[in-house]
Amino acid sequence: MMQIFMPLNFLGFVYREMKGAFASIEHMFELLKLKPKVIDAEDAQPLTVAAGRLVFDKVCFSYSPERPILRDLSFVVEPKQKVAIVGASGAGKSTLFKLLFRFYERNSGLISIDGQDIATVTQASLRAALGVVPQDTVLFNGSIVDNIRYGRIGASDQDIQEAIALSHLQPFIEQLPQGWDTLVGERGLKLSGGEKQRVAIARTLLKRPPIWIFDEATSSLDSHAEKSILSAIDRVSTDHTALVIAHRLSTVVNADKIIVLDKGAVVEQGDHLTLLALGGQYARLWQAQQAGV
Ligand code: ATP
Repeated sequence: MMQIFMPLNFLGFVYREMKGAFASIEHMFELLKLKPKVIDAEDAQPLTVAAGRLVFDKVCFSYSPERPILRDLSFVVEPKQKVAIVGASGAGKSTLFKLLFRFYERNSGLISIDGQDIATVTQASLRAALGVVPQDTVLFNGSIVDNIRYGRIGASDQDIQEAIALSHLQPFIEQLPQGWDTLVGERGLKLSGGEKQRVAIARTLLKRPPIWIFDEATSSLDSHAEKSILSAIDRVSTDHTALVIAHRLSTVVNADKIIVLDKGAVVEQGDHLTLLALGGQYARLWQAQQAGV
Protein backbone atom coordinates (compact mmCIF):
# COMPACT_ATOMS: atom_id res chain seq x y z
CA MET A 1 0.00 0.00 0.00
CA MET A 2 2.75 2.40 0.97
CA GLN A 3 4.20 1.95 -2.50
CA ILE A 4 0.97 3.24 -4.00
CA PHE A 5 0.65 6.07 -1.55
CA MET A 6 4.20 7.30 -1.71
CA PRO A 7 4.03 8.80 -5.20
CA LEU A 8 0.71 10.40 -4.33
CA ASN A 9 2.28 11.81 -1.20
CA PHE A 10 5.13 13.12 -3.26
CA LEU A 11 2.80 14.68 -5.80
CA GLY A 12 0.75 16.31 -3.06
CA PHE A 13 3.95 17.44 -1.44
CA VAL A 14 5.43 18.88 -4.59
CA TYR A 15 2.17 20.69 -5.23
CA ARG A 16 2.07 22.10 -1.70
CA GLU A 17 5.73 23.00 -1.91
CA MET A 18 5.08 24.88 -5.14
CA LYS A 19 1.94 26.39 -3.71
CA GLY A 20 3.61 27.27 -0.46
CA ALA A 21 6.21 28.48 -2.92
CA PHE A 22 9.24 27.09 -1.18
CA ALA A 23 7.98 28.41 2.20
CA SER A 24 9.72 31.43 3.68
CA ILE A 25 12.98 32.22 1.74
CA GLU A 26 11.16 30.35 -0.83
CA HIS A 27 7.86 32.04 -0.19
CA MET A 28 9.48 35.42 -0.43
CA PHE A 29 10.26 34.55 -4.00
CA GLU A 30 6.55 34.13 -4.52
CA LEU A 31 7.31 31.71 -7.28
CA LEU A 32 3.83 31.23 -8.52
CA LYS A 33 3.24 34.92 -8.92
CA LEU A 34 6.34 35.31 -11.00
CA LYS A 35 5.79 34.88 -14.67
CA PRO A 36 8.85 33.35 -16.34
CA LYS A 37 10.51 36.68 -17.00
CA VAL A 38 13.93 35.13 -17.29
CA ILE A 39 14.63 32.58 -19.98
CA ASP A 40 17.82 30.72 -20.81
CA ALA A 41 20.04 32.24 -23.49
CA GLU A 42 20.04 30.16 -26.67
CA ASP A 43 23.67 29.22 -26.15
CA ALA A 44 23.36 28.82 -22.35
CA GLN A 45 25.89 26.38 -20.92
CA PRO A 46 25.58 24.37 -17.73
CA LEU A 47 27.22 26.04 -14.75
CA THR A 48 30.25 24.15 -13.49
CA VAL A 49 31.12 24.80 -9.89
CA ALA A 50 34.50 23.78 -8.59
CA ALA A 51 35.54 26.12 -5.80
CA GLY A 52 32.25 27.97 -5.23
CA ARG A 53 33.35 31.62 -5.45
CA LEU A 54 30.46 34.04 -5.70
CA VAL A 55 30.79 37.62 -6.89
CA PHE A 56 28.29 40.48 -7.00
CA ASP A 57 29.90 43.35 -8.89
CA LYS A 58 28.16 46.74 -9.05
CA VAL A 59 24.75 45.11 -9.35
CA CYS A 60 21.84 47.50 -9.92
CA PHE A 61 18.22 46.43 -9.93
CA SER A 62 14.75 47.90 -9.74
CA TYR A 63 11.33 46.26 -9.92
CA SER A 64 10.03 49.42 -11.58
CA PRO A 65 12.16 52.07 -13.30
CA GLU A 66 11.25 54.90 -10.92
CA ARG A 67 12.41 53.07 -7.79
CA PRO A 68 15.96 51.68 -7.65
CA ILE A 69 16.22 48.83 -5.15
CA LEU A 70 19.81 47.57 -5.40
CA ARG A 71 22.48 50.20 -6.03
CA ASP A 72 25.96 49.23 -7.16
CA LEU A 73 25.86 46.23 -4.87
CA SER A 74 29.30 44.62 -4.68
CA PHE A 75 30.67 41.83 -2.51
CA VAL A 76 32.67 38.61 -2.85
CA VAL A 77 32.10 35.28 -1.12
CA GLU A 78 35.29 33.25 -1.29
CA PRO A 79 35.08 29.44 -1.59
CA LYS A 80 33.92 27.81 1.66
CA GLN A 81 33.38 31.14 3.34
CA LYS A 82 30.31 31.68 5.48
CA VAL A 83 28.88 35.10 4.74
CA ALA A 84 25.89 36.67 6.46
CA ILE A 85 23.69 39.32 4.89
CA VAL A 86 22.08 41.65 7.41
CA GLY A 87 20.09 44.84 7.14
CA ALA A 88 16.83 46.41 8.16
CA SER A 89 13.56 45.26 6.69
CA GLY A 90 13.33 46.44 3.09
CA ALA A 91 17.12 46.81 2.71
CA GLY A 92 17.10 44.39 -0.24
CA LYS A 93 18.20 41.04 1.25
CA SER A 94 15.47 38.99 -0.42
CA THR A 95 15.89 40.87 -3.68
CA LEU A 96 19.57 39.97 -3.78
CA PHE A 97 18.66 36.28 -3.50
CA LYS A 98 15.97 36.58 -6.13
CA LEU A 99 18.65 37.85 -8.52
CA LEU A 100 21.05 35.08 -7.51
CA PHE A 101 18.36 32.51 -8.37
CA ARG A 102 17.59 34.49 -11.51
CA PHE A 103 13.94 34.92 -10.70
CA TYR A 104 14.66 38.43 -11.96
CA GLU A 105 17.36 39.78 -14.26
CA ARG A 106 19.68 42.46 -12.90
CA ASN A 107 19.64 45.82 -14.72
CA SER A 108 23.41 46.18 -14.76
CA GLY A 109 26.54 44.82 -13.13
CA LEU A 110 27.64 41.20 -12.87
CA ILE A 111 26.77 38.20 -10.73
CA SER A 112 29.17 35.31 -11.24
CA ILE A 113 29.89 31.90 -9.76
CA ASP A 114 33.41 30.56 -10.31
CA GLY A 115 33.92 33.14 -13.04
CA GLN A 116 30.74 32.29 -14.98
CA ASP A 117 28.16 35.03 -15.42
CA ILE A 118 24.93 33.49 -14.10
CA ALA A 119 23.05 35.15 -16.97
CA THR A 120 24.89 32.89 -19.43
CA VAL A 121 24.27 29.51 -17.78
CA THR A 122 21.19 27.31 -17.77
CA GLN A 123 18.79 28.09 -14.95
CA ALA A 124 18.44 24.40 -14.14
CA SER A 125 22.19 24.06 -13.53
CA LEU A 126 22.24 27.30 -11.53
CA ARG A 127 19.43 26.20 -9.23
CA ALA A 128 20.94 22.74 -8.86
CA ALA A 129 24.12 24.37 -7.53
CA LEU A 130 22.23 26.36 -4.90
CA GLY A 131 20.89 24.51 -1.87
CA VAL A 132 18.30 26.39 0.13
CA VAL A 133 17.46 25.77 3.76
CA PRO A 134 14.22 27.68 4.20
CA GLN A 135 12.84 28.94 7.49
CA ASP A 136 9.75 26.88 7.26
CA THR A 137 10.22 23.56 5.55
CA VAL A 138 7.24 21.77 4.09
CA LEU A 139 7.02 18.11 5.13
CA PHE A 140 4.90 15.70 3.15
CA ASN A 141 2.84 12.95 4.76
CA GLY A 142 5.26 10.09 5.03
CA SER A 143 8.05 8.86 7.23
CA ILE A 144 10.76 11.17 8.44
CA VAL A 145 13.35 9.19 6.49
CA ASP A 146 11.38 9.62 3.25
CA ASN A 147 11.17 13.33 3.95
CA ILE A 148 14.95 13.44 4.23
CA ARG A 149 15.52 11.16 1.24
CA TYR A 150 13.59 13.66 -0.87
CA GLY A 151 16.88 15.60 -1.09
CA ARG A 152 18.25 12.80 -3.33
CA ILE A 153 15.86 9.99 -4.00
CA GLY A 154 18.62 7.46 -4.73
CA ALA A 155 20.57 8.19 -1.52
CA SER A 156 21.79 5.13 0.41
CA ASP A 157 20.81 4.53 4.04
CA GLN A 158 24.39 5.28 4.99
CA ASP A 159 24.29 8.68 3.25
CA ILE A 160 21.04 9.40 5.07
CA GLN A 161 22.54 8.40 8.41
CA GLU A 162 25.47 10.73 7.79
CA ALA A 163 23.11 13.58 6.87
CA ILE A 164 21.10 12.96 10.04
CA ALA A 165 24.23 13.04 12.17
CA LEU A 166 25.57 16.21 10.54
CA SER A 167 22.27 18.01 10.91
CA HIS A 168 21.96 17.04 14.61
CA LEU A 169 18.71 15.17 14.07
CA GLN A 170 19.91 11.95 15.72
CA PRO A 171 18.76 12.70 19.31
CA PHE A 172 15.36 13.81 18.01
CA ILE A 173 14.87 10.71 15.84
CA GLU A 174 16.04 8.33 18.57
CA GLN A 175 13.22 9.34 20.86
CA LEU A 176 10.49 8.93 18.23
CA PRO A 177 8.20 5.88 18.62
CA GLN A 178 9.23 4.30 15.30
CA GLY A 179 12.55 6.08 14.87
CA TRP A 180 13.05 7.37 11.36
CA ASP A 181 10.01 5.42 10.13
CA THR A 182 7.75 7.64 12.25
CA LEU A 183 5.12 9.35 10.13
CA VAL A 184 5.30 13.13 9.95
CA GLY A 185 3.46 15.86 8.10
CA GLU A 186 -0.16 16.97 8.25
CA ARG A 187 -1.38 13.51 9.18
CA GLY A 188 1.56 12.54 11.38
CA LEU A 189 3.82 14.00 13.99
CA LYS A 190 4.15 17.78 13.87
CA LEU A 191 7.72 18.99 14.05
CA SER A 192 8.84 22.23 15.67
CA GLY A 193 10.35 24.97 13.52
CA GLY A 194 13.87 24.00 14.60
CA GLU A 195 13.31 20.30 13.90
CA LYS A 196 11.89 21.07 10.47
CA GLN A 197 14.85 23.27 9.69
CA ARG A 198 17.19 20.42 10.60
CA VAL A 199 15.24 18.10 8.28
CA ALA A 200 15.82 20.72 5.57
CA ILE A 201 19.55 20.71 6.36
CA ALA A 202 19.65 16.89 6.11
CA ARG A 203 17.75 17.01 2.82
CA THR A 204 20.10 19.61 1.41
CA LEU A 205 23.14 17.61 2.58
CA LEU A 206 21.88 14.76 0.40
CA LYS A 207 21.47 17.12 -2.55
CA ARG A 208 25.15 18.11 -2.09
CA PRO A 209 24.97 21.61 -3.53
CA PRO A 210 28.29 23.49 -3.61
CA ILE A 211 26.65 26.72 -2.44
CA TRP A 212 24.26 26.85 0.50
CA ILE A 213 21.72 29.50 1.38
CA PHE A 214 20.25 29.53 4.85
CA ASP A 215 17.24 31.61 5.62
CA GLU A 216 17.57 32.09 9.34
CA ALA A 217 14.24 31.72 11.13
CA THR A 218 12.64 35.02 12.06
CA SER A 219 10.51 33.43 14.75
CA SER A 220 12.44 32.80 17.91
CA LEU A 221 13.60 29.26 18.53
CA ASP A 222 14.28 28.05 22.05
CA SER A 223 17.95 28.29 22.89
CA HIS A 224 18.54 24.53 22.58
CA ALA A 225 16.98 24.43 19.09
CA GLU A 226 18.90 27.52 18.09
CA LYS A 227 22.20 26.02 19.25
CA SER A 228 21.52 22.82 17.27
CA ILE A 229 20.73 24.76 14.12
CA LEU A 230 23.73 27.04 14.48
CA SER A 231 26.12 24.17 15.04
CA ALA A 232 24.62 22.28 12.07
CA ILE A 233 25.10 25.38 9.91
CA ASP A 234 28.67 25.73 11.15
CA ARG A 235 29.47 22.10 10.34
CA VAL A 236 27.96 22.32 6.88
CA SER A 237 29.63 25.60 6.08
CA THR A 238 33.13 24.38 6.85
CA ASP A 239 32.96 22.41 3.58
CA HIS A 240 30.73 24.65 1.49
CA THR A 241 30.28 28.23 0.47
CA ALA A 242 27.39 29.47 2.57
CA LEU A 243 25.24 32.57 2.56
CA VAL A 244 23.00 33.25 5.52
CA ILE A 245 20.11 35.70 5.45
CA ALA A 246 20.30 36.74 9.06
CA HIS A 247 17.28 38.26 10.72
CA ARG A 248 18.36 37.96 14.33
CA LEU A 249 22.15 38.31 14.08
CA SER A 250 22.51 35.05 16.03
CA THR A 251 24.13 33.31 13.08
CA VAL A 252 26.48 36.12 12.19
CA VAL A 253 28.90 36.11 15.09
CA ASN A 254 30.87 33.20 13.59
CA ALA A 255 30.52 34.30 9.99
CA ASP A 256 33.73 34.95 8.06
CA LYS A 257 32.16 38.10 6.73
CA ILE A 258 29.03 40.10 7.43
CA ILE A 259 27.58 42.26 4.67
CA VAL A 260 25.46 45.11 5.98
CA LEU A 261 22.86 46.32 3.50
CA ASP A 262 21.07 49.63 3.70
CA LYS A 263 18.69 50.85 1.01
CA GLY A 264 20.09 48.37 -1.48
CA ALA A 265 23.77 49.22 -1.01
CA VAL A 266 26.55 47.63 1.01
CA VAL A 267 27.34 50.10 3.78
CA GLU A 268 29.71 47.99 5.88
CA GLN A 269 31.42 44.64 5.62
CA GLY A 270 33.74 42.70 7.87
CA ASP A 271 33.58 40.16 10.66
CA HIS A 272 31.60 40.65 13.84
CA LEU A 273 34.37 42.16 15.96
CA THR A 274 35.58 44.45 13.19
CA LEU A 275 32.08 45.78 12.62
CA LEU A 276 31.42 46.24 16.34
CA ALA A 277 34.66 48.22 16.62
CA LEU A 278 33.55 50.37 13.69
CA GLY A 279 30.66 51.61 15.80
CA GLY A 280 28.41 52.10 12.78
CA GLN A 281 25.18 50.60 11.54
CA TYR A 282 26.01 46.99 12.44
CA ALA A 283 27.05 47.98 15.96
CA ARG A 284 23.73 49.80 16.37
CA LEU A 285 21.74 46.81 15.04
CA TRP A 286 23.66 44.53 17.41
CA GLN A 287 23.11 46.75 20.42
CA ALA A 288 19.41 47.06 19.61
CA GLN A 289 19.04 43.27 19.40
CA GLN A 290 21.01 42.71 22.59
CA ALA A 291 18.72 45.14 24.34
CA GLY A 292 15.76 43.23 22.92
CA VAL A 293 14.47 46.24 21.01
P1 ATP B 1 12.82 41.87 4.93
O1 ATP B 1 13.91 41.74 5.93
O2 ATP B 1 11.62 42.60 5.48
O3 ATP B 1 12.44 40.56 4.28
P2 ATP B 1 14.47 42.65 2.69
O4 ATP B 1 15.74 43.29 3.14
O5 ATP B 1 14.51 41.23 2.29
O6 ATP B 1 13.33 42.87 3.77
P3 ATP B 1 13.37 43.10 0.05
O7 ATP B 1 12.23 42.15 0.23
O8 ATP B 1 14.47 42.71 -0.83
O9 ATP B 1 13.94 43.55 1.47
O10 ATP B 1 12.73 44.46 -0.47
C1 ATP B 1 13.52 45.58 -0.86
C2 ATP B 1 12.59 46.63 -1.42
O11 ATP B 1 12.02 46.14 -2.65
C3 ATP B 1 11.42 46.96 -0.51
O12 ATP B 1 11.23 48.36 -0.54
C4 ATP B 1 10.25 46.26 -1.12
O13 ATP B 1 9.06 46.99 -0.93
C5 ATP B 1 10.60 46.24 -2.61
N1 ATP B 1 10.05 45.04 -3.28
C6 ATP B 1 10.24 43.76 -2.92
N2 ATP B 1 9.62 42.93 -3.78
C7 ATP B 1 9.02 43.70 -4.71
C8 ATP B 1 8.22 43.44 -5.88
N3 ATP B 1 7.94 42.20 -6.26
N4 ATP B 1 7.78 44.49 -6.59
C9 ATP B 1 8.08 45.76 -6.22
N5 ATP B 1 8.82 46.08 -5.14
C10 ATP B 1 9.29 45.07 -4.39
